[in-house]
Amino acid sequence: MAQYIFQNYDKKVNIGKIICLARTYKKHAQEMHATVTEDPILFLKPESSIIFNNESIVLPKMSNCVHHEVELGVVICKTGKNISEKDAMDHVLGYVVALDITARDIQSVAKKSGWPWSIAKGFDTFAPISYVVLKDEVPDLHNLDLKLKVNDKLKQLANTKYMIYSVERIIEFVSKIMTLKKGDLILTGTPEGVGELFEGDVIEAKLGDVCYLKVNVKREQ
Ligand code: MG
Repeated sequence: MAQYIFQNYDKKVNIGKIICLARTYKKHAQEMHATVTEDPILFLKPESSIIFNNESIVLPKMSNCVHHEVELGVVICKTGKNISEKDAMDHVLGYVVALDITARDIQSVAKKSGWPWSIAKGFDTFAPISYVVLKDEVPDLHNLDLKLKVNDKLKQLANTKYMIYSVERIIEFVSKIMTLKKGDLILTGTPEGVGELFEGDVIEAKLGDVCYLKVNVKREQ
């Protein structure tokens, strides 16, 4: 089982379930011609989709259009069900900058057909994450720049203050549905500027000045 990488923490934490949100930034919903919903839209990624710094996203043979989405990831530190907004931060261990890699062509067919997004979102290597920065090292979670460059060109630049739902509200909502456990990871959705990836691309992602991730792109052989 994959484990998180920490900068300033000597404990080992296994990576649990990966809960992802969609349409959490208005401008991204607009670029996808999607409507914003009252509650967040959820889907899951398998733990097998995780990769780390300096590893490779593999473009699968099944897809002809794979997109990048840069996101704030929240790592959970203890078990909780029906967590209130007020108590939500007690359940947070720290944060990562994450990529929600998406086979956009497969997702488009799924959307039109009313099918789940599990294939589009669930390929191996489709969840690159940085090391974890601990909660206390991030004073203002809701005012952090999210940045993504492909081959040194800026593609996504936004700030967590533009999220439609706060992290506290997201934890409250998710924990009404499923018990959150130590090591679970919540990917909080992407801002605008998503785009296609090609073999040989180098991606750099940043969350404020605290998290950094660099991965490259290969094609499935
Ligand atoms: Mg996403």
